[in-house]
Amino acid sequence: MINISLVCWLVAACVSAQTIQQLQQRLGMGKAASATPGAPAGRGTDVLLVEKPWEQITDRQLFDHGKIALGQNPSKWHHAETEHFVIHFHKRIDAQKVARQAEFYYEQVKKDLMVEKDRFDRKSHIFLFEKDEEWHQFVAEAKFMEWSAGVAYRSELYFLSRRDSGDFAASTLAHEMTHCVFYRFVPKRIPMWLNEGFSEFESGNAYAKFKGIGGGNRGSGRGGAADYPLQKLLATKEYPKDQQDVHEFYRTSERLVRFLMTKLDRNRFVPLVMKLADGASLESAVLAIYPDKFKSFDEFVKRYEKS
Ligand SMILES: [Zn+2]
Repeated sequence: MINISLVCWLVAACVSAQTIQQLQQRLGMGKAASATPGAPAGRGTDVLLVEKPWEQITDRQLFDHGKIALGQNPSKWHHAETEHFVIHFHKRIDAQKVARQAEFYYEQVKKDLMVEKDRFDRKSHIFLFEKDEEWHQFVAEAKFMEWSAGVAYRSELYFLSRRDSGDFAASTLAHEMTHCVFYRFVPKRIPMWLNEGFSEFESGNAYAKFKGIGGGNRGSGRGGAADYPLQKLLATKEYPKDQQDVHEFYRTSERLVRFLMTKLDRNRFVPLVMKLADGASLESAVLAIYPDKFKSFDEFVKRYEKS
């Protein structure tokens, strides 16, 4: 069974309708990769992407879904690696774009988490499917939701990078990629609100920086009141059934993570996350990590609600 806190479907409810052209435009796909000298700082410099036969890839460890994606015949894919990622692809131009974005997010998340290094000694594998048929076959074999257009699981990411007509938003790819990157720093099961909230917050933040359009503490910018009831949010173990609730769940998760990351001492965010990963409730984790800030969980909730 897939632990829901580790898997994120590219949820249709969160994806604004976008054409593939818009996606490619936003990702810069389909255009010649720019040689980076002189590229604006903050857009992610070109990363060294070294293409190799599968047998020569330095880290060939895959989770089960990755093994299915690779298939019986690894030579049906091109493979290339960067410092932290292995990209499996069909078009190098797409691999180059994704690799650049992945390494940029890696650095951004590391910086934002205020940590020196990740806790994952493997490379993260990213599979860029190109054809609908191969994607549908993979989704069926991996037993993912048949409507998914991309899935993040632990440190791996699988997605359909090109579609004839699409609902694949670049910001959603950013969200999925952030899951993979975050897992490298916290390779454990974490509560669903934290997993989704971090991806929402950091993907908005890192994507904006990647595109050179700001960033900082703005989070995903997804609309909505972000007033999903806190206790219900903390207890959530599966996606709400109602689409509006899904929307509010993501939005509120992001609000809570944004509060933790930007309104409290950011140095203590990772220690807090590690306590939650070890099974602590948010209440006990907050009181243990911020004894100087909150005498009770009520005080914490009041400050969060004002945020
Ligand atoms: Zn997600």
